[in-house]
Amino acid sequence: MKTQHELLIGGKWQTAVSGKRFQTRNPATGEVIAEVAEGDATDIDRAVAAARKALDGPWGRTDPSERGKYLRRMADLIRKNAEELALLDTRDCGKPITDTRTVDVPVAAEFFDYFAGLPDKICGSTVPVGDGFLNYTLREPVGVVGQITAWNFPILNAAIKLAPALACGNTLVLKPAEDTPLSALELGRLSQEAGLPDGVVNIVPGYGPTAGEALVRHPGVDKIAFTGSTEIGKHIMRVAADTVKHVTLELGGKSPNIVFPDADLDAAVAGALFGIFLNQGQVCCAGSRLFLHETIYDKFMEKLLAKAKSLRVGNPMDEKTQLGALVSAKQLKRVGDYVESGKAEGAKLEIGGARPKDSKLDKGCFFTPTVFTRVKRDMRIAREEIFGPVSCVMTFKDEDEAVSLANDTTYGLAAAVWTRDISRAHIMARRLKAGVLWINVTTHFSWATPYGGYKESGFGREMGLEAIGIYTQAKDVWVNLSREPNPWCN
Ligand code: NAD
Repeated sequence: MKTQHELLIGGKWQTAVSGKRFQTRNPATGEVIAEVAEGDATDIDRAVAAARKALDGPWGRTDPSERGKYLRRMADLIRKNAEELALLDTRDCGKPITDTRTVDVPVAAEFFDYFAGLPDKICGSTVPVGDGFLNYTLREPVGVVGQITAWNFPILNAAIKLAPALACGNTLVLKPAEDTPLSALELGRLSQEAGLPDGVVNIVPGYGPTAGEALVRHPGVDKIAFTGSTEIGKHIMRVAADTVKHVTLELGGKSPNIVFPDADLDAAVAGALFGIFLNQGQVCCAGSRLFLHETIYDKFMEKLLAKAKSLRVGNPMDEKTQLGALVSAKQLKRVGDYVESGKAEGAKLEIGGARPKDSKLDKGCFFTPTVFTRVKRDMRIAREEIFGPVSCVMTFKDEDEAVSLANDTTYGLAAAVWTRDISRAHIMARRLKAGVLWINVTTHFSWATPYGGYKESGFGREMGLEAIGIYTQAKDVWVNLSREPNPWCN
Protein backbone atom coordinates (compact mmCIF):
# COMPACT_ATOMS: atom_id res chain seq x y z
CA MET A 1 0.00 0.00 0.00
CA LYS A 2 1.28 3.46 -0.96
CA THR A 3 1.48 5.97 1.91
CA GLN A 4 1.49 9.80 1.80
CA HIS A 5 3.89 11.93 3.82
CA GLU A 6 4.25 15.65 4.52
CA LEU A 7 7.08 17.81 5.81
CA LEU A 8 7.47 18.37 9.56
CA ILE A 9 7.95 22.12 10.04
CA GLY A 10 7.38 23.99 13.30
CA GLY A 11 5.53 21.06 14.83
CA LYS A 12 3.03 20.78 11.96
CA TRP A 13 2.81 18.38 9.04
CA GLN A 14 2.74 20.57 5.94
CA THR A 15 2.65 20.07 2.20
CA ALA A 16 5.51 21.57 0.20
CA VAL A 17 4.74 25.15 -0.86
CA SER A 18 5.33 24.08 -4.48
CA GLY A 19 2.79 21.27 -4.02
CA LYS A 20 5.34 18.83 -5.47
CA ARG A 21 5.76 15.25 -4.33
CA PHE A 22 8.25 12.53 -5.10
CA GLN A 23 7.96 8.77 -4.97
CA THR A 24 10.04 6.32 -3.03
CA ARG A 25 10.33 2.70 -4.14
CA ASN A 26 11.04 -0.64 -2.56
CA PRO A 27 14.25 -1.57 -4.39
CA ALA A 28 13.62 -5.28 -3.82
CA THR A 29 10.38 -5.22 -5.82
CA GLY A 30 10.39 -1.96 -7.78
CA GLU A 31 7.03 -1.06 -6.27
CA VAL A 32 6.27 2.56 -5.26
CA ILE A 33 5.70 2.49 -1.51
CA ALA A 34 5.19 6.15 -0.67
CA GLU A 35 4.66 9.66 -1.99
CA VAL A 36 6.53 12.29 -0.07
CA ALA A 37 6.17 16.07 -0.10
CA GLU A 38 9.20 17.45 -1.94
CA GLY A 39 10.76 20.28 0.05
CA ASP A 40 12.75 23.00 -1.69
CA ALA A 41 14.31 26.37 -0.79
CA THR A 42 10.98 27.90 0.31
CA ASP A 43 10.22 25.02 2.68
CA ILE A 44 13.78 25.04 4.02
CA ASP A 45 13.35 28.75 4.73
CA ARG A 46 10.21 28.06 6.75
CA ALA A 47 11.88 25.19 8.61
CA VAL A 48 14.93 27.30 9.49
CA ALA A 49 12.64 30.07 10.80
CA ALA A 50 10.80 27.50 12.94
CA ALA A 51 14.08 26.11 14.27
CA ARG A 52 15.32 29.62 15.13
CA LYS A 53 12.06 30.46 16.92
CA ALA A 54 12.31 27.28 19.01
CA LEU A 55 15.96 27.98 19.84
CA ASP A 56 15.20 31.55 20.95
CA GLY A 57 12.06 30.33 22.73
CA PRO A 58 11.22 27.35 24.92
CA TRP A 59 13.99 24.98 23.83
CA GLY A 60 16.73 27.52 24.53
CA ARG A 61 15.40 27.85 28.10
CA THR A 62 14.91 24.12 28.76
CA ASP A 63 16.97 22.79 31.68
CA PRO A 64 19.71 20.39 30.58
CA SER A 65 18.29 17.53 32.63
CA GLU A 66 14.89 18.08 30.97
CA ARG A 67 16.55 17.86 27.54
CA GLY A 68 17.90 14.48 28.61
CA LYS A 69 14.40 13.28 29.47
CA TYR A 70 13.13 14.08 25.98
CA LEU A 71 15.96 12.02 24.51
CA ARG A 72 15.21 9.13 26.86
CA ARG A 73 11.59 9.23 25.69
CA MET A 74 12.78 9.11 22.08
CA ALA A 75 14.79 5.96 22.87
CA ASP A 76 11.76 4.36 24.53
CA LEU A 77 9.47 5.27 21.62
CA ILE A 78 11.90 3.83 19.07
CA ARG A 79 11.87 0.56 21.02
CA LYS A 80 8.08 0.63 21.29
CA ASN A 81 7.78 1.11 17.51
CA ALA A 82 10.76 -1.09 16.66
CA GLU A 83 9.01 -3.54 14.36
CA GLU A 84 7.32 -0.82 12.26
CA LEU A 85 10.60 1.07 11.96
CA ALA A 86 12.49 -2.08 10.92
CA LEU A 87 9.88 -2.85 8.26
CA LEU A 88 9.99 0.74 7.03
CA ASP A 89 13.76 0.74 6.47
CA THR A 90 13.75 -2.74 4.96
CA ARG A 91 11.09 -1.71 2.44
CA ASP A 92 12.57 1.69 1.71
CA CYS A 93 16.22 0.60 1.48
CA GLY A 94 16.16 -3.09 0.51
CA LYS A 95 18.24 -4.13 3.50
CA PRO A 96 17.64 -7.50 5.21
CA ILE A 97 14.96 -7.46 7.92
CA THR A 98 17.31 -9.29 10.28
CA ASP A 99 19.73 -6.35 10.04
CA THR A 100 17.10 -3.67 10.61
CA ARG A 101 15.60 -5.63 13.52
CA THR A 102 18.86 -6.49 15.27
CA VAL A 103 21.10 -3.56 14.39
CA ASP A 104 19.70 -0.44 12.73
CA VAL A 105 16.66 0.13 14.95
CA PRO A 106 17.98 -1.01 18.36
CA VAL A 107 21.23 0.87 17.83
CA ALA A 108 19.28 4.01 16.88
CA ALA A 109 17.54 3.74 20.27
CA GLU A 110 20.91 3.29 21.99
CA PHE A 111 22.12 6.57 20.46
CA PHE A 112 19.24 8.44 22.11
CA ASP A 113 19.84 6.64 25.40
CA TYR A 114 23.55 7.43 25.40
CA PHE A 115 23.04 11.10 24.59
CA ALA A 116 20.12 11.35 27.05
CA GLY A 117 22.70 11.16 29.84
CA LEU A 118 24.81 13.96 28.45
CA PRO A 119 23.06 17.36 28.69
CA ASP A 120 23.70 18.01 32.40
CA LYS A 121 27.34 16.93 32.07
CA ILE A 122 28.36 19.41 29.37
CA CYS A 123 30.54 21.74 31.41
CA GLY A 124 32.63 24.79 30.75
CA SER A 125 35.84 25.37 32.69
CA THR A 126 37.57 27.98 34.82
CA VAL A 127 40.85 29.18 33.41
CA PRO A 128 43.72 30.26 35.70
CA VAL A 129 44.58 33.72 34.31
CA GLY A 130 46.12 35.30 37.42
CA ASP A 131 44.98 37.36 40.39
CA GLY A 132 43.17 40.25 38.69
CA PHE A 133 40.53 38.28 36.83
CA LEU A 134 38.14 35.42 36.95
CA ASN A 135 37.92 33.63 33.62
CA TYR A 136 35.49 30.87 32.76
CA THR A 137 33.96 29.31 29.67
CA LEU A 138 30.36 28.54 28.84
CA ARG A 139 29.64 25.71 26.40
CA GLU A 140 26.73 26.92 24.31
CA PRO A 141 24.84 25.22 21.49
CA VAL A 142 26.05 26.09 18.00
CA GLY A 143 22.46 27.12 17.17
CA VAL A 144 20.31 26.02 14.25
CA VAL A 145 21.86 22.92 12.68
CA GLY A 146 21.22 21.73 9.12
CA GLN A 147 21.65 17.96 8.83
CA ILE A 148 21.89 16.03 5.58
CA THR A 149 22.08 12.24 5.48
CA ALA A 150 22.88 9.33 3.14
CA TRP A 151 20.50 6.45 2.39
CA ASN A 152 22.52 3.43 3.50
CA PHE A 153 21.42 3.26 7.18
CA PRO A 154 18.35 5.48 7.10
CA ILE A 155 17.17 5.48 10.72
CA LEU A 156 20.66 5.09 12.13
CA ASN A 157 22.11 7.97 10.10
CA ALA A 158 19.23 10.15 11.31
CA ALA A 159 19.63 9.09 14.96
CA ILE A 160 23.39 9.75 14.82
CA LYS A 161 22.56 13.29 13.70
CA LEU A 162 19.58 14.06 15.96
CA ALA A 163 20.69 12.70 19.33
CA PRO A 164 23.96 14.63 19.88
CA ALA A 165 22.60 17.84 18.34
CA LEU A 166 19.60 17.83 20.70
CA ALA A 167 21.67 16.78 23.73
CA CYS A 168 23.85 19.85 23.18
CA GLY A 169 20.80 22.13 23.04
CA ASN A 170 20.61 22.87 19.31
CA THR A 171 17.52 22.91 17.12
CA LEU A 172 17.67 21.28 13.71
CA VAL A 173 16.42 20.85 10.18
CA LEU A 174 17.10 17.35 8.83
CA LYS A 175 17.04 16.61 5.11
CA PRO A 176 17.11 12.83 4.74
CA ALA A 177 18.32 11.13 1.57
CA GLU A 178 15.69 11.22 -1.17
CA ASP A 179 15.95 7.44 -1.68
CA THR A 180 15.00 6.62 1.92
CA PRO A 181 13.12 9.43 3.68
CA LEU A 182 10.49 7.36 5.53
CA SER A 183 12.10 6.40 8.84
CA ALA A 184 13.43 9.95 9.36
CA LEU A 185 9.87 11.23 8.97
CA GLU A 186 8.78 8.65 11.50
CA LEU A 187 11.48 9.85 13.90
CA GLY A 188 9.96 13.31 13.44
CA ARG A 189 6.58 11.92 14.46
CA LEU A 190 8.14 10.25 17.50
CA SER A 191 9.83 13.53 18.47
CA GLN A 192 6.32 15.05 18.69
CA GLU A 193 5.08 12.10 20.73
CA ALA A 194 8.07 12.54 23.03
CA GLY A 195 6.85 16.09 23.63
CA LEU A 196 9.74 18.00 22.09
CA PRO A 197 8.62 21.62 21.63
CA ASP A 198 7.45 22.63 18.15
CA GLY A 199 10.26 23.60 15.79
CA VAL A 200 13.07 21.81 17.65
CA VAL A 201 13.05 18.95 15.12
CA ASN A 202 12.10 19.78 11.53
CA ILE A 203 12.23 17.12 8.82
CA VAL A 204 12.27 18.31 5.21
CA PRO A 205 12.76 15.58 2.59
CA GLY A 206 13.71 16.70 -0.89
CA TYR A 207 16.51 16.48 -3.43
CA GLY A 208 20.14 17.41 -2.81
CA PRO A 209 20.58 20.22 -5.34
CA THR A 210 17.35 21.94 -4.17
CA ALA A 211 16.48 21.26 -0.51
CA GLY A 212 20.00 20.19 0.52
CA GLU A 213 21.75 23.07 -1.20
CA ALA A 214 19.23 25.59 0.23
CA LEU A 215 20.04 24.36 3.73
CA VAL A 216 23.76 24.78 3.16
CA ARG A 217 23.31 28.27 1.68
CA HIS A 218 20.82 29.51 4.28
CA PRO A 219 22.24 32.40 6.35
CA GLY A 220 20.06 31.37 9.30
CA VAL A 221 21.78 27.98 9.62
CA ASP A 222 24.80 27.96 11.95
CA LYS A 223 26.17 24.51 11.18
CA ILE A 224 25.93 21.78 8.57
CA ALA A 225 26.40 18.17 9.63
CA PHE A 226 26.67 16.10 6.45
CA THR A 227 26.84 12.36 5.76
CA GLY A 228 27.37 11.42 2.13
CA SER A 229 29.88 11.21 -0.66
CA THR A 230 33.23 12.96 -0.67
CA GLU A 231 32.31 14.71 -3.92
CA ILE A 232 29.22 16.39 -2.40
CA GLY A 233 31.06 16.95 0.89
CA LYS A 234 33.67 19.03 -0.92
CA HIS A 235 30.93 21.03 -2.61
CA ILE A 236 29.20 21.63 0.74
CA MET A 237 32.42 22.91 2.28
CA ARG A 238 32.80 25.43 -0.54
CA VAL A 239 29.20 26.62 -0.36
CA ALA A 240 29.20 26.82 3.45
CA ALA A 241 32.23 29.12 3.28
CA ASP A 242 30.02 31.98 2.04
CA THR A 243 28.28 32.19 5.41
CA VAL A 244 31.20 30.77 7.47
CA LYS A 245 29.14 27.91 8.88
CA HIS A 246 30.50 25.22 11.14
CA VAL A 247 30.81 22.10 9.01
CA THR A 248 31.32 18.44 9.86
CA LEU A 249 31.63 15.83 7.14
CA GLU A 250 31.14 12.05 7.34
CA LEU A 251 32.25 10.99 3.87
CA GLY A 252 33.24 8.00 1.77
CA GLY A 253 35.89 5.36 2.27
CA LYS A 254 38.03 2.68 0.65
CA SER A 255 39.10 0.90 3.79
CA PRO A 256 41.92 -1.65 3.90
CA ASN A 257 41.55 -5.00 5.64
CA ILE A 258 45.00 -6.54 6.21
CA VAL A 259 45.56 -10.20 7.09
CA PHE A 260 48.96 -11.28 8.44
CA PRO A 261 50.08 -14.92 8.31
CA ASP A 262 49.84 -15.38 12.09
CA ALA A 263 46.12 -14.46 12.12
CA ASP A 264 43.30 -16.81 13.04
CA LEU A 265 42.38 -17.43 9.41
CA ASP A 266 38.83 -18.62 9.96
CA ALA A 267 38.07 -15.54 12.03
CA ALA A 268 39.74 -13.33 9.42
CA VAL A 269 37.70 -14.92 6.60
CA ALA A 270 34.47 -14.32 8.50
CA GLY A 271 35.58 -10.77 9.29
CA ALA A 272 36.51 -10.07 5.68
CA LEU A 273 33.10 -11.26 4.43
CA PHE A 274 31.21 -9.28 7.05
CA GLY A 275 33.42 -6.27 6.38
CA ILE A 276 32.59 -6.09 2.68
CA PHE A 277 29.19 -7.75 2.21
CA LEU A 278 27.19 -6.38 5.17
CA ASN A 279 24.39 -4.14 3.85
CA GLN A 280 25.26 -5.25 0.28
CA GLY A 281 28.60 -3.45 0.63
CA GLN A 282 26.84 -0.10 1.01
CA VAL A 283 28.81 0.79 4.12
CA CYS A 284 31.11 3.81 4.28
CA CYS A 285 33.75 1.90 6.27
CA ALA A 286 33.45 -1.33 4.22
CA GLY A 287 36.73 -3.26 4.01
CA SER A 288 36.66 -3.06 0.23
CA ARG A 289 40.41 -3.58 -0.20
CA LEU A 290 41.52 -6.93 1.19
CA PHE A 291 45.30 -7.32 1.61
CA LEU A 292 46.55 -10.87 2.15
CA HIS A 293 50.09 -11.86 3.06
CA GLU A 294 51.44 -13.79 0.08
CA THR A 295 52.18 -16.93 2.14
CA ILE A 296 48.53 -17.41 3.14
CA TYR A 297 46.96 -16.24 -0.10
CA ASP A 298 45.96 -19.66 -1.54
CA LYS A 299 44.60 -21.08 1.70
CA PHE A 300 42.73 -17.90 2.57
CA MET A 301 41.15 -17.50 -0.88
CA GLU A 302 39.97 -21.08 -0.91
CA LYS A 303 38.10 -20.51 2.38
CA LEU A 304 36.88 -17.03 1.43
CA LEU A 305 35.46 -18.03 -1.96
CA ALA A 306 33.76 -21.13 -0.57
CA LYS A 307 32.00 -19.08 2.07
CA ALA A 308 31.24 -16.14 -0.25
CA LYS A 309 29.49 -18.51 -2.66
CA SER A 310 27.24 -19.74 0.12
CA LEU A 311 26.02 -16.26 1.18
CA ARG A 312 22.28 -15.94 0.81
CA VAL A 313 21.15 -13.15 -1.53
CA GLY A 314 17.40 -12.76 -1.57
CA ASN A 315 14.15 -11.25 -0.43
CA PRO A 316 15.01 -8.75 2.34
CA MET A 317 11.85 -9.79 4.20
CA ASP A 318 13.19 -13.35 4.59
CA GLU A 319 14.92 -13.68 7.96
CA LYS A 320 17.63 -15.91 6.46
CA THR A 321 18.68 -13.38 3.82
CA GLN A 322 22.20 -12.03 4.28
CA LEU A 323 22.33 -9.68 1.26
CA GLY A 324 19.19 -7.84 0.22
CA ALA A 325 18.76 -5.41 -2.66
CA LEU A 326 20.95 -2.43 -3.50
CA VAL A 327 19.16 0.82 -2.79
CA SER A 328 18.24 1.80 -6.36
CA ALA A 329 18.59 1.07 -10.06
CA LYS A 330 21.16 3.87 -10.16
CA GLN A 331 23.29 2.14 -7.52
CA LEU A 332 22.91 -1.20 -9.32
CA LYS A 333 24.22 0.37 -12.52
CA ARG A 334 27.10 2.03 -10.67
CA VAL A 335 28.22 -1.31 -9.19
CA GLY A 336 27.84 -3.06 -12.56
CA ASP A 337 29.92 -0.37 -14.27
CA TYR A 338 32.72 -0.77 -11.71
CA VAL A 339 32.73 -4.53 -12.29
CA GLU A 340 33.13 -3.92 -16.03
CA SER A 341 35.96 -1.47 -15.37
CA GLY A 342 37.71 -4.03 -13.14
CA LYS A 343 37.52 -6.67 -15.86
CA ALA A 344 38.67 -4.21 -18.54
CA GLU A 345 41.70 -3.17 -16.45
CA GLY A 346 42.79 -6.81 -16.05
CA ALA A 347 41.58 -7.83 -12.60
CA LYS A 348 40.36 -11.43 -12.32
CA LEU A 349 36.68 -11.87 -11.49
CA GLU A 350 36.61 -14.89 -9.14
CA ILE A 351 32.92 -14.90 -8.28
CA GLY A 352 29.82 -12.76 -8.72
CA GLY A 353 29.88 -9.69 -10.92
CA ALA A 354 26.26 -10.09 -12.03
CA ARG A 355 22.65 -10.11 -10.95
CA PRO A 356 21.49 -13.35 -9.31
CA LYS A 357 20.00 -16.02 -11.59
CA ASP A 358 16.77 -16.26 -9.64
CA SER A 359 13.65 -15.18 -11.49
CA LYS A 360 12.00 -14.24 -8.20
CA LEU A 361 14.56 -11.44 -7.83
CA ASP A 362 14.29 -10.09 -11.39
CA LYS A 363 12.35 -6.96 -10.48
CA GLY A 364 14.70 -5.94 -7.68
CA CYS A 365 18.14 -4.30 -7.57
CA PHE A 366 20.03 -7.42 -6.50
CA PHE A 367 23.71 -8.10 -7.14
CA THR A 368 25.77 -11.14 -6.22
CA PRO A 369 28.75 -11.00 -3.84
CA THR A 370 31.73 -10.22 -6.05
CA VAL A 371 35.42 -10.90 -5.53
CA PHE A 372 38.24 -9.65 -7.74
CA THR A 373 41.82 -10.91 -7.45
CA ARG A 374 44.97 -9.73 -9.27
CA VAL A 375 43.95 -6.20 -8.42
CA LYS A 376 46.63 -3.52 -8.88
CA ARG A 377 46.77 -0.42 -6.72
CA ASP A 378 46.23 1.97 -9.65
CA MET A 379 43.04 0.31 -10.97
CA ARG A 380 39.80 2.24 -10.59
CA ILE A 381 38.26 -0.57 -8.52
CA ALA A 382 41.19 -0.25 -6.08
CA ARG A 383 41.05 3.54 -5.82
CA GLU A 384 37.39 4.60 -6.06
CA GLU A 385 34.57 3.89 -3.65
CA ILE A 386 32.21 1.39 -5.32
CA PHE A 387 29.71 1.25 -2.44
CA GLY A 388 28.52 -2.21 -3.36
CA PRO A 389 29.32 -5.89 -2.69
CA VAL A 390 32.72 -5.91 -4.42
CA SER A 391 35.91 -7.08 -2.71
CA CYS A 392 39.29 -6.23 -4.28
CA VAL A 393 42.03 -8.61 -3.19
CA MET A 394 45.75 -7.77 -3.28
CA THR A 395 48.84 -9.34 -1.71
CA PHE A 396 51.78 -8.00 0.30
CA LYS A 397 55.11 -9.44 1.40
CA ASP A 398 55.88 -7.55 4.63
CA GLU A 399 54.57 -4.97 7.09
CA ASP A 400 56.06 -2.01 5.21
CA GLU A 401 54.43 -3.01 1.96
CA ALA A 402 51.10 -3.56 3.69
CA VAL A 403 51.26 -0.05 5.17
CA SER A 404 52.28 1.50 1.86
CA LEU A 405 49.43 -0.20 -0.04
CA ALA A 406 46.83 0.44 2.65
CA ASN A 407 47.66 4.14 3.00
CA ASP A 408 47.81 4.66 -0.77
CA THR A 409 44.32 6.17 -0.96
CA THR A 410 42.74 9.59 -0.72
CA TYR A 411 40.32 8.16 1.86
CA GLY A 412 40.96 7.47 5.56
CA LEU A 413 37.81 6.28 7.26
CA ALA A 414 38.69 2.89 8.74
CA ALA A 415 41.29 0.11 8.60
CA ALA A 416 41.40 -3.45 9.95
CA VAL A 417 44.35 -5.68 10.85
CA TRP A 418 44.31 -9.39 11.61
CA THR A 419 47.24 -10.72 13.63
CA ARG A 420 47.99 -12.51 16.92
CA ASP A 421 51.18 -10.48 17.40
CA ILE A 422 50.30 -7.81 19.93
CA SER A 423 53.23 -5.52 19.05
CA ARG A 424 52.45 -5.69 15.34
CA ALA A 425 48.79 -4.93 16.03
CA HIS A 426 49.56 -1.73 17.92
CA ILE A 427 52.33 -0.66 15.55
CA MET A 428 49.93 -1.04 12.62
CA ALA A 429 47.29 0.93 14.56
CA ARG A 430 49.75 3.83 14.65
CA ARG A 431 50.98 3.55 11.07
CA LEU A 432 47.63 3.28 9.27
CA LYS A 433 46.05 6.61 8.38
CA ALA A 434 42.39 6.22 9.29
CA GLY A 435 39.93 7.54 11.84
CA VAL A 436 38.89 4.09 13.09
CA LEU A 437 41.23 1.12 13.57
CA TRP A 438 40.03 -2.44 14.07
CA ILE A 439 42.26 -5.23 15.39
CA ASN A 440 40.86 -8.71 14.71
CA VAL A 441 37.40 -7.35 13.96
CA THR A 442 35.74 -5.40 11.15
CA THR A 443 32.85 -2.92 10.88
CA HIS A 444 32.38 -2.50 14.58
CA PHE A 445 31.37 0.70 16.35
CA SER A 446 29.48 2.08 19.32
CA TRP A 447 27.54 5.24 20.16
CA ALA A 448 30.17 5.75 22.90
CA THR A 449 33.24 5.86 20.63
CA PRO A 450 34.35 8.63 18.25
CA TYR A 451 33.72 7.72 14.61
CA GLY A 452 34.89 9.69 11.60
CA GLY A 453 37.45 10.11 8.92
CA TYR A 454 41.00 11.16 8.19
CA LYS A 455 41.92 12.72 4.84
CA GLU A 456 39.07 12.92 2.28
CA SER A 457 36.81 10.77 4.46
CA GLY A 458 35.90 13.93 6.33
CA PHE A 459 36.28 15.49 9.77
CA GLY A 460 34.33 15.91 12.98
CA ARG A 461 33.22 13.12 15.32
CA GLU A 462 29.48 12.76 15.98
CA MET A 463 29.62 9.77 18.31
CA GLY A 464 30.86 9.53 21.88
CA LEU A 465 31.86 12.49 24.01
CA GLU A 466 33.70 14.05 21.05
CA ALA A 467 30.27 15.07 19.75
CA ILE A 468 30.17 17.80 22.41
CA GLY A 469 33.05 19.50 20.64
CA ILE A 470 31.20 19.77 17.33
CA TYR A 471 27.70 20.59 18.58
CA THR A 472 28.67 23.28 21.11
CA GLN A 473 30.92 26.32 21.02
CA ALA A 474 32.97 27.86 23.81
CA LYS A 475 32.18 31.32 25.07
CA ASP A 476 34.95 32.82 27.18
CA VAL A 477 33.94 35.15 30.01
CA TRP A 478 36.34 37.64 31.66
CA VAL A 479 35.44 39.11 35.05
CA ASN A 480 37.57 41.97 36.35
CA LEU A 481 38.25 41.50 40.08
CA SER A 482 40.17 44.75 40.46
CA ARG A 483 38.55 47.63 42.34
CA GLU A 484 40.68 50.19 40.49
CA PRO A 485 39.91 51.75 37.08
CA ASN A 486 42.08 50.73 34.12
CA PRO A 487 45.52 52.39 34.75
CA TRP A 488 45.87 53.15 31.02
CA CYS A 489 43.49 56.06 31.56
CA ASN A 490 45.65 57.66 34.25
P1 NAD B 1 25.44 11.75 -1.80
O1 NAD B 1 26.61 12.60 -1.45
O2 NAD B 1 25.04 11.64 -3.20
O3 NAD B 1 24.14 12.26 -1.00
C1 NAD B 1 24.14 12.42 0.40
C2 NAD B 1 23.11 13.46 0.78
O4 NAD B 1 23.51 14.71 0.23
C3 NAD B 1 21.70 13.19 0.24
O5 NAD B 1 20.75 13.54 1.23
C4 NAD B 1 21.61 14.14 -0.94
O6 NAD B 1 20.30 14.55 -1.24
C5 NAD B 1 22.43 15.32 -0.44
N1 NAD B 1 22.95 16.20 -1.48
C6 NAD B 1 23.26 15.90 -2.76
N2 NAD B 1 23.68 17.00 -3.42
C7 NAD B 1 23.64 18.03 -2.52
C8 NAD B 1 23.96 19.41 -2.59
N3 NAD B 1 24.38 20.00 -3.71
N4 NAD B 1 23.83 20.15 -1.48
C9 NAD B 1 23.40 19.60 -0.33
N5 NAD B 1 23.07 18.30 -0.21
C10 NAD B 1 23.19 17.51 -1.29
O7 NAD B 1 25.75 10.33 -1.15
P2 NAD B 1 24.84 9.03 -1.18
O8 NAD B 1 25.00 8.36 -2.48
O9 NAD B 1 23.48 9.36 -0.69
O10 NAD B 1 25.52 8.16 -0.02
C11 NAD B 1 26.63 7.37 -0.23
C12 NAD B 1 27.87 8.04 0.30
O11 NAD B 1 27.72 8.36 1.68
C13 NAD B 1 29.08 7.14 0.22
O12 NAD B 1 30.18 7.88 -0.25
C14 NAD B 1 29.29 6.72 1.67
O13 NAD B 1 30.61 6.33 1.96
C15 NAD B 1 28.88 7.95 2.40
N6 NAD B 1 28.56 7.66 3.80
C16 NAD B 1 29.44 8.04 4.78
C17 NAD B 1 29.19 7.75 6.11
C18 NAD B 1 30.17 8.14 7.20
O14 NAD B 1 29.80 8.08 8.36
N7 NAD B 1 31.40 8.51 6.88
C19 NAD B 1 28.02 7.07 6.46
C20 NAD B 1 27.13 6.70 5.44
C21 NAD B 1 27.41 6.99 4.12
